[in-house]
Amino acid sequence: MANGSLPSAVVIVWWFTGLQVFYMGYLSGASAAAADTWATEIGTLSNRKPGLTTSLVEVPNGSSGAISLLGFLGSIGGSFSIVVASSPWLRNGNFFQISLIVVSAGIIGSIADSLAGATIQSQYTCEKCSRTTERLTCCDRTTTRSKGWHG
Ligand SMILES: [Zn+2]
Repeated sequence: MANGSLPSAVVIVWWFTGLQVFYMGYLSGASAAAADTWATEIGTLSNRKPGLTTSLVEVPNGSSGAISLLGFLGSIGGSFSIVVASSPWLRNGNFFQISLIVVSAGIIGSIADSLAGATIQSQYTCEKCSRTTERLTCCDRTTTRSKGWHG
């Protein structure tokens, strides 16, 4: 919902107005969501521990609010996948220019999300494996909230 509702509203506006700026807005929103997902999934595979966005203190892999080089590259891949997927609908647009805008928006959105993750998002700790997570359960047990707001 958080990732999809605003882009969905924007793409409906584009559909009725035909103004490309709205389609770009939609792609940027989708790009940020994809960048964030890819960064999390790929960044988790990193051998090196990621740093927390706010302090660059090393934290366990997969932590919310953490960034790593591999995760950053993942976010570029995620954003670019949106450009590629949307290319059949990009009429009279400069592909390179559009790629640049949408990929930049994805990376900025993803970093903004990591910042939010490092500051205001809830984090939970698993008492069994001591991993920090956004999930409410880990190792088949309930995690305990360690920071941030509930939600
Ligand atoms: Zn666990």
